[in-house]
Amino acid sequence: MKTIPLSRVYDSDEIRRRVVEVIDSGQFILGPECKLFEKELAEYLGTSRFVLSNSWTSAVHLLFLALDFPRGSEVLLPSLTAFPSVEPICHAGLNPVFVEVDDTYCLDPDDLERKVTSRSVGILPVHLYGQPADLARVRECADRHGLVVIEDCAQAIGARCEGRRVGSFGKAAGFSFYPSKNLTVCGDGGGIATDDDGLAERVASLRDHGRSSKYLNDRLGFNMRFNEIQAAVGRCQLKVLEDLNRRRREIARLYGELLQGTVVTPTERPGVEHVYHLYVVRADRRDELQLHLRSHGIQTGIHYPIPVHRQPAITDRFGESRLPFTDQLTGQILSLPMYPGLSDDEVDFVAQKVRSFYRG
Ligand SMILES: *Cc1c(COP(=O)(O)O)cnc(C)c1O
Repeated sequence: MKTIPLSRVYDSDEIRRRVVEVIDSGQFILGPECKLFEKELAEYLGTSRFVLSNSWTSAVHLLFLALDFPRGSEVLLPSLTAFPSVEPICHAGLNPVFVEVDDTYCLDPDDLERKVTSRSVGILPVHLYGQPADLARVRECADRHGLVVIEDCAQAIGARCEGRRVGSFGKAAGFSFYPSKNLTVCGDGGGIATDDDGLAERVASLRDHGRSSKYLNDRLGFNMRFNEIQAAVGRCQLKVLEDLNRRRREIARLYGELLQGTVVTPTERPGVEHVYHLYVVRADRRDELQLHLRSHGIQTGIHYPIPVHRQPAITDRFGESRLPFTDQLTGQILSLPMYPGLSDDEVDFVAQKVRSFYRG
């Protein structure tokens, strides 16, 4: 039986050639490929700086250390997100405050407003599944209360809001190049984008032992560097990212047509361009549908079955939060196969099997 995976990593002859070239160059860490990748990412995103690190989690950890908020301050974020979204907040000695999402699966701006307190210092909107959060309202809330906005762009590289790519709407933004993401590097990788040169310098120094020059260490840092082979892979993918994201949007349009009358398909907020890192539907009898699709060789996923506010690592430390809509969604959401190499026929096959499930 033919199987259709949930996602597949992009690969090309150019990538294979470039990897060998870098091996021959003899430079492996934070060399010319990394510098060029940082420059090209900043240009692509429209920020003055991009600082690479070995993952989103590392980069945003360094970012929160560099921002140096008072311990015990609060950062607002959605609970319906990948668990790593919350980790840098906790590691920086800050308290997460969980906010509901709305039916675009991004931060609900009304609940956000309700949960701001005198201890709030920041908001971490997550552009979940590739759709920009309501950045106009997030920024309005942040400005009114004097909060810093850190975008979680791990799933949304290239997505646009008000015609501009996400990553330049707040103080800084985190990106991930983990293998399933829209831009990948054959392994872990990530970084932050910012227009604040001082902040970029502090993050860059922290990722490399707090160094300011080869043998001078101004502060205690970490080894959270990036490497040349993966930067070369990322540069190849960045060149084709617009095409890859366009194909994801085409697939989403096709799914939307073919799935009418079966499951709830994703909606795009007016004024944004979604890049469909994941194609997530809401389904009646979700678990049975998932088994039905599996029996036809179709791999699906649930992003996420346990929201962050229900994870033991969080409840043990911060207690319980009440987020009924988020809890409800986790029982309904299902991610269908989505990657640029998925053919129209395969999309049609997946949709047929969804339809056959509901026809019984
Ligand atoms: C993947 C992901 C992360 C973590 O990225 P890593 O590069 O794996 O550290 C953070 N937030 C979201 C929303 C993600 O999807």
